[in-house]
Amino acid sequence: MPSRAPEPAVAVDPVALTRDLIRRPSVTPRDEGAIDLLAGLLERLGFACHKLVFSEPGTDDVVNLYARWGAGGRNFCFAGHTDVVPPGNPQSWTADPFEARLIDGQLYGRGAVDMKGAIAAFAAAAARFVAEHGDDPPGSISLLITGDEEGVSINGTKKVVEWLEARGERLDVCIVGEPTNARDLGDMVKIGRRGSLTGRLTVHGTQGHTAYPHLADNPVHRIVAMLHALTSEPLDGGSAHFQPSTLQVSTIDVGNPASNVIPAEAKAVFNARFNDVWTSETLVAWIRERLDAAAAGGRYDLEIAVSGESFLTPPGAVSTVLTQAIERVTSRRPEFSTTGGTSDARFIRRLCPTAEFGLVGLTMHKVDERVDVADIVALADIYKAALDLYFGVAASTSSAATAAAD
Ligand SMILES: [Zn+2]
Repeated sequence: MPSRAPEPAVAVDPVALTRDLIRRPSVTPRDEGAIDLLAGLLERLGFACHKLVFSEPGTDDVVNLYARWGAGGRNFCFAGHTDVVPPGNPQSWTADPFEARLIDGQLYGRGAVDMKGAIAAFAAAAARFVAEHGDDPPGSISLLITGDEEGVSINGTKKVVEWLEARGERLDVCIVGEPTNARDLGDMVKIGRRGSLTGRLTVHGTQGHTAYPHLADNPVHRIVAMLHALTSEPLDGGSAHFQPSTLQVSTIDVGNPASNVIPAEAKAVFNARFNDVWTSETLVAWIRERLDAAAAGGRYDLEIAVSGESFLTPPGAVSTVLTQAIERVTSRRPEFSTTGGTSDARFIRRLCPTAEFGLVGLTMHKVDERVDVADIVALADIYKAALDLYFGVAASTSSAATAAAD
């Protein structure tokens, strides 16, 4: 669908926009006007905006946005989320978590780095690009924004991706704006993520008197042996772009208040973060094989929930463009990494090569989440440089050259 003709160039101040977004307390799954704020701005820039509300029985309605500028050519997508994790006790914060206060060049607020700052930076970059190329778009720019990343992620990016597929909407490359940098802006690009699966194990036995164990069958002893079988050896030695997979026992629950009773049941939960040596299927098969051997015929149930497969976007077009853009702005050469938790990149990588790059993650999900305002400005420059490099157009260098150009 053709986007509307842009009005005279609209400049976007990424710091002001970050503050406006932080002031919408969009704790998952609430939206509080965050998507409308962004959609209104993108419409003024000439983006065609689709507000997508998804719901499912037993889940909360979630507001998402797909916005596109340009009618043809290659489609450069930025993906992100406007929802944030709860702030915890606001009294523990230096400034109210939804006030967006500036203190000594730092902007405080829930979502500052994860990831309203990055969304604002991309909107500012897109505004500059549109101002420079509005009369002759070299391709398309799109934003895929969800309000359901920090929660169950059922009515968010996953459904937007299905919606895009159903419409035949093509994305050629995607940058997800998660806070990827460990210390300094430009130090890390994520080119993949480990997979994650959770196992809920219930081991059955026979209740009895601890003085008469031959008349009982102790599931606690068996669950210890079974968990040992899962944790006593490394899962693998890592792969070209991944650290070794890990499996951690999160809890063991028996809840038996009596010291002279052998309980009838023992439960445990474990979580595995696995690399591209495995798929969830091969890993579950490995887990079951080990558990069967250790259970030695004892009865158990295992429930598995897979929250994401591992994936890798091999170094290529998207990471090259990002690396060059980052070097141009920060003079740093980013490391390619696959560390950290899952992100919505796991859904988007089905559509196109996907890499993640955003702000510095040191304070994400913490009390006093904050961002250096200089980082927001620099990130806007990096995203703008990535657009220029991707579409092969001449760079109009600094942020000072904003919307007035052309
Ligand atoms: Zn995030």
